[in-house]
Amino acid sequence: MLTQLFIDIIRAWEYKDFVVLYDNAESLKRMTRFLQVYNNNNYKIVFRQLEKYGNYRPALKEVRKSGATHLMLDCSTEIVKDVLTQAQQVGLMSDKHYFFITNFDLQTIDLVPFQFSETNITGIRLFDPQSEPIRDLAEFIFAEDIARDPMFVFSAPYKLHLDVILIVDAVMMFGEVLEELPETPKSIDCDQNDRWLSGLTITNLVKGKQYSGLSGIIAFDGVGYRNNLMVDVIELKEGGITKVGNWSDEKSIQKLTIDRPPYENDVRKQALKHKSFRVLISLIEPFARYKRVSDTSLRGNSEYEGFAIDLIHELSVIEGFNYTFLNQIDKKNGDYNPVKREWEGMIGAIRANEADLAIADLTITSDRQQAVDFTTPFMNLGISILYQKPRKAPPSFFSFADPFALEIWILVALSYLTVSMVLFVLGRICSSEWTNPYPCIEEPEYLVNQLSLRNCFWFVSGSIMQQGTEIGPLALSTRMVAGIWWFFTLIMVSSYTANLAVFLTRETPIPHFNDVFELVKNAETKGIKWGAKKDGSTVNFFKASRNRFKEYGQIYDFMMDHAGDVLVSDPTLGVERAERENYAFFMEITSIEYEIQRRCNLTKVGKLLDEKSYGIAMRKNSTYRSVLSRAILDLQHSGKLNELKRKWWEEKRGGGFCESEDDQSEATALNLKNVGGVFWVTMGGVLIAVVLVVAELLMHVVKISIQTKAPLWQSIVEEFKFYFKFSGMIKPVTYNNPNLEESSKSSVKNS
Ligand code: GLU
Repeated sequence: MLTQLFIDIIRAWEYKDFVVLYDNAESLKRMTRFLQVYNNNNYKIVFRQLEKYGNYRPALKEVRKSGATHLMLDCSTEIVKDVLTQAQQVGLMSDKHYFFITNFDLQTIDLVPFQFSETNITGIRLFDPQSEPIRDLAEFIFAEDIARDPMFVFSAPYKLHLDVILIVDAVMMFGEVLEELPETPKSIDCDQNDRWLSGLTITNLVKGKQYSGLSGIIAFDGVGYRNNLMVDVIELKEGGITKVGNWSDEKSIQKLTIDRPPYENDVRKQALKHKSFRVLISLIEPFARYKRVSDTSLRGNSEYEGFAIDLIHELSVIEGFNYTFLNQIDKKNGDYNPVKREWEGMIGAIRANEADLAIADLTITSDRQQAVDFTTPFMNLGISILYQKPRKAPPSFFSFADPFALEIWILVALSYLTVSMVLFVLGRICSSEWTNPYPCIEEPEYLVNQLSLRNCFWFVSGSIMQQGTEIGPLALSTRMVAGIWWFFTLIMVSSYTANLAVFLTRETPIPHFNDVFELVKNAETKGIKWGAKKDGSTVNFFKASRNRFKEYGQIYDFMMDHAGDVLVSDPTLGVERAERENYAFFMEITSIEYEIQRRCNLTKVGKLLDEKSYGIAMRKNSTYRSVLSRAILDLQHSGKLNELKRKWWEEKRGGGFCESEDDQSEATALNLKNVGGVFWVTMGGVLIAVVLVVAELLMHVVKISIQTKAPLWQSIVEEFKFYFKFSGMIKPVTYNNPNLEESSKSSVKNS
């Protein structure tokens, strides 16, 4: 009977050239009848045994090289996944390839890796893991695992193998037959040769009975073989395993009926024109809200506005469907209740067929994806923290020093010392700085120099304080130094003043914390609490990742211990609390962006903790999923989705209100990068002054040597001897009377 089933499925391919991959002799035996049928029908069949020891690649490669595209895989459950994986590795899994897997336990194999390969994978099954009795049986068998992990309830039915189901059916049927016996069967002694009289009765009762078991109607033919079999034909689609038809052997008439849901393109062509969807929304801004109009005559769809409302409208324009909005009053998006064993919120409503689509800030999570289907995401996001903006720090005692970085203050001090010393040295070397102390005496005996070390320091500090002194350099070189110092002063003082003004007017905020780890660390000392939306995906994120970081665990435990206080059913309550108190609200970035544009004392703190998306939910295996997904992609492609986001986030109801304030740049101390140039200019000016003084000195020495008729080198030595003695600021007038030096000194002292 099964061979007939295989033959019918292969025939439905309408392809006469195929490969049978088998793994043991038993399956080859099964194929004998198969061959008998096909030998006469111009079919070309190649049999290939899969090698033992797990390396099936050589056989699979040969198949690929032979150009075969249709394969029948007849092997044990344990190796099906490996064979498929290796087929994928050798390039046997494309949209050109067709696989028929004869194994009845296909649903127990994780086929997700092949779901998107576009390969046509067909299989068969005797029971539907999604059906109520099978789910009940799985819950019973796997009760312990489910108690440990309530989510396991969804995958448990997929762990049931056919032999378990058949054993359950056999035992149940046998039990029922026993109850139908006219009298209680007598026990017999195994050691005797007696016949068990009830045995024949039981056999006859079983043969004549039709029992409705987990594997369908159980009935037997005269010989005792099961007949009237009903087998589901399944295919692997992007949404998972889908039933596409059935094969029955009712009254010995074997018949294959394929009733595939129309392929995406066909569905699209059909359009959803005559469809009317009940669309569930939740009044969370800016996804949906009541219109703010005094017109109370608004009823039905026109009552609402928002991003989700516009998105559904755009989709309906593309696909031509009608819709009616329903409001999820409790704003619950959807969480699994392990006590009631059912989904709550929007996901629950979709499953209970109270609505066809659900759209809100509905995050696609793996748990939810097991319960409902989602379209392609229409928005990407992650979790972050909404918290008060940092407050202004009290001014520090030395805040006057803030405009310059420390390095600048050090450089200014060094420049001050250097320029003062240079001025002193140049002033001493430079002949023009030595002046006649008594202007009435035409030929003085000695000259004086005002640029003593003390005066130089005084002059340089007078300039930088912008006060000035009576001292004024006379020579070109010293004036050069003074000029360049004034320039330095001009730039530094104006930069300081300008930046000081910025520092005095700008707030220098001190944040309470910069990321989630600091939040946990500082929470106690700063009295910060945190929370999130109750039963939302954010709380579930911390639950799922509480073992990844100890801080995540602390965050989750705190939220659970204070659930009544810190978890909110409506996110707006959380946002308002964050505005008022030291309360960090974990929220999805999309909602944070919306709020901080409108509530200026709030901000986002830290980076995103995860990455996920929002999608539109619908019942499992909905045929319109791909149509809607494609329409969403169209909207994305044309920029319409972006436009909608801008409209509802940045423009409507006070969007962008807080932005101007955010634009303010922070006050930062000037550093070397900002004012480095002025130090270089000052250094350059001082070097030029040194060159000038050397020139001046040379001219002076040449003049003296001409006047005293002494050799040039001697004059130079004499001059330098004097300069570098650094003793006093009085200089004898050497060229008039070179021997005057001593007497002039004493006379100056006397005077
Ligand atoms: N988007 C979340 C959900 O679908 C609700 C908001 C949240 O948990 O932060 O459950």
